[in-house]
Amino acid sequence: MTLIGPTPRTTHKRLPQRGSHDRALIHAILDEGLVCHVAFVADGQPFVIPTIYARVGERLYVHGAGASRMLATLKLGAPVCVEVTLVDALVLARSAFHHSMNYRSVMVFGVAQEAVDPAEKREALHAIVEHVVAGRSRETRPPSAQEIAGTRVLWVPILEASAKVRTGPPVDSEEDHLLPHWAGELPLRMVPGAPVPDPRLAAATPLPPSLYDYQRVKAR
Ligand SMILES: Cc1cc2nc3c(=O)[nH]c(=O)nc-3n(C[C@H](O)[C@H](O)[C@H](O)COP(=O)(O)OP(=O)(O)OC[C@H]3O[C@@H](n4cnc5c(N)ncnc54)[C@H](O)[C@@H]3O)c2cc1C
Repeated sequence: MTLIGPTPRTTHKRLPQRGSHDRALIHAILDEGLVCHVAFVADGQPFVIPTIYARVGERLYVHGAGASRMLATLKLGAPVCVEVTLVDALVLARSAFHHSMNYRSVMVFGVAQEAVDPAEKREALHAIVEHVVAGRSRETRPPSAQEIAGTRVLWVPILEASAKVRTGPPVDSEEDHLLPHWAGELPLRMVPGAPVPDPRLAAATPLPPSLYDYQRVKAR
């Protein structure tokens, strides 16, 4: 797999200077995101399903129960668009009109394929756990053969994709710079709270290393 874009459907038309087809940027945004939104049409009805995912190389894996409408529809070859958004800052302008957000987002277009080989499913499920909490796989019981068999796993090739990134201050109209209103950026980042032990956790169970310094930005 090589192509990422631009293709007819991944050519940025609106504010193209914010667009990118840089593979490393697209991978980095996918790796930092926690949740993706999977868009597809089933029986003429559009759906957008938020779901957990993981990138393994140039594959974006999703998983779920066999009864999942999303997975059943994608398995039949429905065209899919997967989107991930990271919000980096609120952008406050002097005018209400020019308020915005700084963000990094990715859209992936394609057709999903089902992973049926138990070894591939195991690797994908491992990647999904690691995507959410790096190092967690070492701290839990691995999935049983029955759990693997009962989980549907599909992957979307990260082949036709685009990123879009906004950075920097608000873009007010020139005449509005004389207005007295505060303008600038309010950076936002995902910060974990203090871990809350399960009520049934055995006393003195230590905090696992994966939670010592949890953060979304991962070095890969
Ligand atoms: C947090 C956030 C908030 C936003 N708020 C607004 C808003 O309030 N109003 C608004 O109009 N737009 C907003 N956008 C931008 C929005 O996502 C679209 O880029 C924009 O609306 C143009 O859409 P379009 O289909 O006309 O773009 P086009 O340029 O016609 O899209 C062509 C192709 O460019 C690529 N592309 C477009 N947008 C994105 C994207 N965001 N990420 C990755 N690839 C992309 C896709 O491949 C797409 O098929 C926001 C984006 C983010 C991430």
